[in-house]
Order: sequence, then C-alpha cells, then structure tokens
Amino acid sequence: MKPYDRMKELVELLNKYAALYYEEDAPTVSDAEYDALYDELRALEESEGYSLKNSPTHRVGGAPQKKFEQSRHLLRLYSLDKCKTEGELADWHDRILKAVGREPELTAEYKFDGLTLNILYENGEMVKAATRGDGVTGEEVTAQVRTIEGVPRRISYKGRIEVQGEGIMKLSALAAYNLSSAEPLKNARNGAAGAIRNLDPAVTASRHLTFMAYNIGYSDRHFASQSEMHDFLKEEGFETESDFTLLKGVDEAFAFAKKVEELRPSLDFLIDGVVFKVNDTALRDEIGYTEKFPKWAIAYKFKADEMTTVLRDVVWQVSRSAKLNPLAILDPVDIGGVTVRRATLNNYGDILKKKVRIGDRVFIRRSNDVIPEITGVAEEVPGARDVEKPSVCPACGAPVKEEGAFLYCTGEHCAPQIVSYLDHFASKDAMDIEGFSEKTAEQFYNELHMTSPVQLMSLKKEDIADLDRFGDKKAENLIAAVNAAKTTTMDRLLFALGIDGIGKKTAKDLAARFRTFDALARASREELTSVDGIGGVLADNIIAYFADGSGEKFLSELYAAGVTVREAEKKTGVFTGMRLVLTGSLPTYKRGEATALIEENGGEVASSVSKTVDLVVAGEDAGSKLDKAKKLGVRVIDEATFVAMLKGETPVTGE
Ligand code: NAD
Repeated sequence: MKPYDRMKELVELLNKYAALYYEEDAPTVSDAEYDALYDELRALEESEGYSLKNSPTHRVGGAPQKKFEQSRHLLRLYSLDKCKTEGELADWHDRILKAVGREPELTAEYKFDGLTLNILYENGEMVKAATRGDGVTGEEVTAQVRTIEGVPRRISYKGRIEVQGEGIMKLSALAAYNLSSAEPLKNARNGAAGAIRNLDPAVTASRHLTFMAYNIGYSDRHFASQSEMHDFLKEEGFETESDFTLLKGVDEAFAFAKKVEELRPSLDFLIDGVVFKVNDTALRDEIGYTEKFPKWAIAYKFKADEMTTVLRDVVWQVSRSAKLNPLAILDPVDIGGVTVRRATLNNYGDILKKKVRIGDRVFIRRSNDVIPEITGVAEEVPGARDVEKPSVCPACGAPVKEEGAFLYCTGEHCAPQIVSYLDHFASKDAMDIEGFSEKTAEQFYNELHMTSPVQLMSLKKEDIADLDRFGDKKAENLIAAVNAAKTTTMDRLLFALGIDGIGKKTAKDLAARFRTFDALARASREELTSVDGIGGVLADNIIAYFADGSGEKFLSELYAAGVTVREAEKKTGVFTGMRLVLTGSLPTYKRGEATALIEENGGEVASSVSKTVDLVVAGEDAGSKLDKAKKLGVRVIDEATFVAMLKGETPVTGE
C-alpha cells in the first residue's frame, strides 16, 4: 500500500475509534491497540514529511457532544506527550536540558485514567464544571460534577480559578456497582466518563465517583510551581495524589516509574502511567507547547493490561465446590508481553449480564497474579452464537442445578470435583502434605476409591505400597508426610475444608477471632460479618457449612483419624484485645510495618472504621476513615502517639 493510502486509512480508523471513545464513551478497541495505530501514523507522518488535515495528531480529544451546553475554557487544555521506554524518557529529558540549559526539578505524579474535568471557582464558589472536549471548548457538566462528593462547593480562595483533575471511578466502587447493576460496566474509565457525560446527574451520583485534582488552569493568582499548586489544592480540600514526588534527572524519574508500575495492581484506581512535569512555571514558559501537548511534561505509559481478541469457545470446568466454571478459549493475544489464550468468565450469570457470545470480539483485562478476565464485548460479530448453558456436568454427566448466577454439578461421585478437593485439602496453604499432588489424588481416587480427606488422613503404608509409581520408600515418605500434617493449626484446617469463598487470608482472620471450631460453628451472622473481609455472603456460607451438623461430623471424623488442632500461639502486648485501623500515610512506618507491630503486640488490624474499633492511627491525607472515626467518636491518634504506646510511654486507653 502506498504511504498516502495507509495514512488515509489510519486517519479514518483512528478518527472512528476516537469518536467512539471520546464522544460515546464506548470504545471498541483497547488503548494499546489505538496507541499502536497512532504511533504508526505518527511515524508515517514524520517519514513522509506531511500529514493530513484531519489527522488526530493535530487534535486534542474529541468534539464536545451537542446534547450538552458548550463551555469555553478560560485557558486551553492540552493532551500529554508519551513515552514507553527509559530511552524515550531520556530523549525528552535531553530536550528539556537543551531548552533551559540546566537540570530542572521535576514533579512525578500518577497518570489517572478517567475523564479530565475543568472546574471554575469564582468568589470562593464552584460555578461551572466542564469536560476537556477539544481543549478549547468542553461540555458543561456542572450538575453532574456537583454529585461527586469530593469536589468542594466552596473554597477559601476568592479569585477566579480553574481547578483541573480527573473524574475517576475507584475499582471498589466499580465492583460494588457491577454487583448490583443489570448492565455491568466494562471498566472504570468508561464507567467514570459515561457517568459524567450523562444528562441525568442521578446516574453520575449512582456511580460514586472521585475527583483527583492535579492542576490549576487559569488563575488570578500566580503559581510559581507545580508543587505550589499541589499544596494549594490540598489545602483547599481537594483530594490530591499522596505519592506526589519531587525529583531530578532520568534515573530518579525512571526509578519512580518502576516503583509505581509495581504498585499499580494494589491501587484502588486505574492508572495507565506516570506523568513528569517541570516544576517551575517560569521555566515552562521558556520550554513551551506544541499544538497538542506541553513540551515541559511527558507521560511514561505502563505496559498494557487490556486488549481485545475473539472469543472462540467456552468450556466448563467443575470445581471442588461443585461449581461449573466457564473458561473462555481465546484467539491468542499479547497483553503487556504475556500471551493470553484463556480467560475467566466468572459464572453463567456473568455471561448473560455481559452479553458475551462465541465469535464476538471481547475485552480482556489482565493484572498481575489473577486469571485474565473478559470484561465485556468490544464488537458484536455477525454470526456469533450464544454460549450454551450445560444441562449436565461435563465431567460426570449428573444434572446441573442453577442457583443465582451459578451452575452446580449435583453428582455425588464427580471425579474432577473429588480429585480437586483432595488436592486442595493437601495443598501447601491447607494441610500441607508434602509429596501429595493432583496426580496422586487422581491415582488414589481411581485405584483406592478415595473420595474423602478422612480416608487420606487414615492412610497406612500397606494401603499404597503396591500401587503403581509407589514403592516402599515413596509410600513411607507419603505416610510420614500425612502424619506430620495431622498436627495443624485452625486456619490451615479451616482453609482446607474448602468452604465457598474462604481463602487463606479469611481463614486466618476467622481463626484469630474465634480460636476454636466450636466457637466458629456457633458464631452469629453479626459476629461473623464483624471480621474483616467477611460480608453477608461469606457469613452465610460459613453458617450453612455448620448448619446441619455435617461440618462438625466431618471434623470429628478427621480428629478420629488423628488430626489435632494446635492452639495458635497468642501474641500479647499493649494492644491485646484491641482493634485498630490505619489510615493515611504515616511519616515513618509503611502500612505493612505498622500492621506487623500491632499484631505482634496483641492487636488486630481492621480495614474499616466501626464502633467495634478502639483506635484509629491517622497519617497524612487520611480521608473518609478519619471522618468516620470522628463521627463515631472513635479515638484518633497520630504516629508519634502510636509509637509512644508501643514503648509504654503513653497509656493505650484514655485521651
Ligand atoms: P491521555 O489521556 O493519554 O493524556 C492526557 C490526559 O491525561 C490529560 O487530559 C489528563 O486528563 C490526564 N491525566 C491523568 N493524570 C494526570 C496528571 N497527573 N497530570 C496531568 N494530566 C493527567 O491523552 P489523550 O490525548 O487525552 O488521550 C489519548 C489516549 O486515549 C490514547 O493514548 C489512548 O490510550 C486513549 N484513546 C483510546 C481510544 C480507544 O478506542 N480505546 C480512542 C482514543 C483515545
């Protein structure tokens, strides 16, 4: 294809995608796919030495939608230049050095993935809010933005000022919304953008958005630096980023980017990179702008975590809890350097909600450690067919029963179910039987008709010494491992039981709270839900497990087979019997360090503030938890008091 033709094709394609993304908030390709085409166009324009008039490389964002009032910004808004490698970052830094002749101080910030908002304040009152639009004119969304709790209606500064930032949807808000909505949102970015660019402010309110302020546009007051703007925004009550950092040079900048990229999966909001800006505003004026972005700033973009591909098939796998789990078979796709061929679709209800059909192009999201997930349909493809609901278990042929969103195998002797339960029971975080693998479970099921962990815990050498792949020595080792595993702790055995939804962390928390299976079996729903991470559904699962006596019968059979639960060593100290909450960033201790200190001293760390909490340790930027503590009258202390309590210099009770 001639360069001109390819250029034309790319411009048309990118403009189509941009309109769907910016104007409809309904993208049909992932950002990484869009960026790859954009980079190809930019390279082509550079090598050919010309560009087409309607090329997206000349333009910021999309046209403001006509259904909204149009709002002219007092000062133009820009896009950001982007880089993906340390080398490209160094090239940008070299250009800055050349422009100003010295090493400038840089700010480092997260690059939030949401919708840009420009909020105008006059006489200390919020008077207008608008989207970025094409950078000159945006859509007026004042009523919508007023529903965002964190946007101050009033500020103390009485001049005219534009506060800019990103309207985002926290991932916890997205998860909560998707749980109860008939139409799940594909991702937090579309969730936020679609909520704001909606004529009904009630829709915006229902999505519980957050506004992260990071910039000042027009202002009567002069700001000498980005950090001055950051401090001003914080003091005026805006939510600002807590990791805002000042640094110098490419090495420090790159180290910051790497640190944040590692942190990324643990954040409660989407970021797609970090942004570096020259801190000094006077220097910025010297460096200047292109028609699309400031030359004094750059976004370092992280590896992609979302792509689109074709859903080829759905297969059903039976789990140890008898659930049939749908596994999506995909056209292989590279996501951030990893080839993904399979993804989860969670459950049958999820397939219906997401309207996913075999043959459609779908969005796949992959973040560290978790199985890639299909988040929604990118493009409906003609000829695609519905995912069939199995009526019988694919493994054992027993009828399938439907309960809520889930399908269950009703078979009593469903081989994969039994094998994966035995395997789970013996696994490292459960009973930890060394040398017992899924293969062993399969062999014992087939050759010894083993269907219960009670049989496993009662095994004798003579039962297995004659089996294939076993001999005297191997049999001896396995029996020794079984015997060693018999003395265990409550959290391990509880996790081994495989109660639906009880992972190793929840098992630990439950064991720490109830200390014996008797106490756990008698616990009320209220007592259970007061444990961190236990909601109504998990509490009901635990209650159901012990309700008809079969749970306790199973435990007593295990005890009869020699299983004994060792009393966990109880740590005691100044916080014995107390529940503490950590919020905000503490000056010296990291969250994990403070948690360890509390636990080593007998206390328990809760994730949310309630009346059952004794102390809240608040650091800088403590937000809603601090407010709640004040409301409930829970005692709040700073790090210094916390340390003094640990040293015994300050009593833990009283003011
Ligand atoms: P951008 O969104 O990549 O970068 C500019 C924006 O970053 C600013 O407008 C601002 O809102 C935001 N931002 C977040 N944190 C910031 C901070 N700390 N400081 C300053 N700004 C911050 O650029 P863009 O031009 O708005 O959009 C282009 C991007 O949009 C593309 O790279 C692509 O990923 C995506 N896009 C996707 C599709 C699609 O179909 N999937 C289509 C068009 C565009």
